[in-house]
Amino acid sequence: VRLVRTVADLRAALRAPRLQERTIGLVPTMGALHDGHLALVARARETCHEVVVSLFVNPRQFDDAGDLAAYPRDERRDAALVAEAGADLLFAPAVGEVYPEGFATTVSVRGPLTETLEGAHRGRAHFDGVATVVTKLLNMVQPDVAFFGQKDAQQALVIRRFVRDLDLPVRIDVVPIVREADGLALSSRNVHLHGADRERALALASGLRAAQARIAAGERDAQAIAAAGRDAMRAFDVEPEYLAVVDPETLTPLRAVEGTALIAVAARVGPTRLIDNVLVQAPEKAG
Ligand code: AMP
Repeated sequence: VRLVRTVADLRAALRAPRLQERTIGLVPTMGALHDGHLALVARARETCHEVVVSLFVNPRQFDDAGDLAAYPRDERRDAALVAEAGADLLFAPAVGEVYPEGFATTVSVRGPLTETLEGAHRGRAHFDGVATVVTKLLNMVQPDVAFFGQKDAQQALVIRRFVRDLDLPVRIDVVPIVREADGLALSSRNVHLHGADRERALALASGLRAAQARIAAGERDAQAIAAAGRDAMRAFDVEPEYLAVVDPETLTPLRAVEGTALIAVAARVGPTRLIDNVLVQAPEKAG
């Protein structure tokens, strides 16, 4: 894999493949790579001729300075994993390359999509930071397809929205959540789960499973479904920041689950804030 650090070098490296009309896939990451990221790279490898992985810990999307300072970083390990996964380019810019002196522009998606769930708990600056950096990465790389994880379901919806609103010429591909054998969704922040917190982190997947089981058992009332999820989490001594049953496209709260629902959860486990979600299809009502 070739490592590039500047936009000029990135564009130079992509000039030939672009002229040859080879398709370009982009996988944006903040590094500390795990099998969830590598699933995105694998999907890009299957779909595109040229695969670019970006590695940039974006300060603008962190709402908590401690979280940013503690964010795991290991570029050498990441480069080895990206090479092994068969990517062609690793774009790892410095903060000053992405946000030069005088940087003054923000891409901001307004409305319910960014005001609920993560937006409500982390503040507006979080999705502004995400939308701004992803817009920049899409303009830097100009990929045909960009790959994101369903793990960050709300982020994927926000990205689809500004890509559509701003007519950005890229296809967005969302890849299913990769989990540990016991159900824990892979996350770079999982390295902070020490001792009993690793076990307690199962609260999120267990809460989602309990809520899903209630739907499978015929429950339609969103409050009852969410309550079942929260109860299951309490067995792990974890109180969610939110556990919400929402419309999978608009993220507005559902009163009753009829077609598909997104169940999204966030919780602090010790010092670590985790998120997870599941898409659920309500079974057809018996005639
Ligand atoms: P991050 O480095 O945390 O910003 O994540 C980079 C990309 O990987 C995002 O599109 C995430 O949604 C995706 N991702 C992170 N964890 C997982 C996972 N467990 N399964 C699938 N995709 C993931």
